[in-house]
Amino acid sequence: MPGLDTQVDDPERVEQENPIFVIQKHAAKTLHYDFRLEVDGVLKSWAVPKGLSLSPEEKRLAVPTEDHPIEYAEFEGVIPEGSYGAGAVLVWDRGTYRNLTERRGERTGVAEGLRQGHISFWLDGTKIRGGYALTRFRTGKNEAWLLVKKNDDEADPGRNPVVSEPRSVISGRTIEEIEAEEGDQ
Ligand code: MN
Repeated sequence: MPGLDTQVDDPERVEQENPIFVIQKHAAKTLHYDFRLEVDGVLKSWAVPKGLSLSPEEKRLAVPTEDHPIEYAEFEGVIPEGSYGAGAVLVWDRGTYRNLTERRGERTGVAEGLRQGHISFWLDGTKIRGGYALTRFRTGKNEAWLLVKKNDDEADPGRNPVVSEPRSVISGRTIEEIEAEEGDQ
């Protein structure tokens, strides 16, 4: 992905012409996929237990988690025992995204869309491409969203990269290889 590193390393960058997304596979107490979107200088984050689907028929639960710094998009390794989220992390996919959020027929910023409870975007990753919608369906202490593939040319219910493409897009390693190589140090 040309230019990604430059973008991540530039703290002065305020224009979000090519904001990044990352999906980190995380073998914590419960395996999940952390879906993160760059919004206003931080990574807005959701834990998606089943990962992203390419089928518009499958709604994937997405539970909001704390914002992460942009630099965290590069993190792959093992979070030590005793720390929050202990377990192995791999960069399952990454790339840039385009905001497609509209409200009453007008393009709306991602931050505003998140406040309103609905955003729409196009992902350009290695494994995942195409349009997705993220919609809040519960607020309060148990806030929860649904992440759903849009019915566009990139929709492909026959392909399930969560199963068929488990390796890191950075290092080519599996989560087990990361645990073996970087755990117990
Ligand atoms: Mn996580």
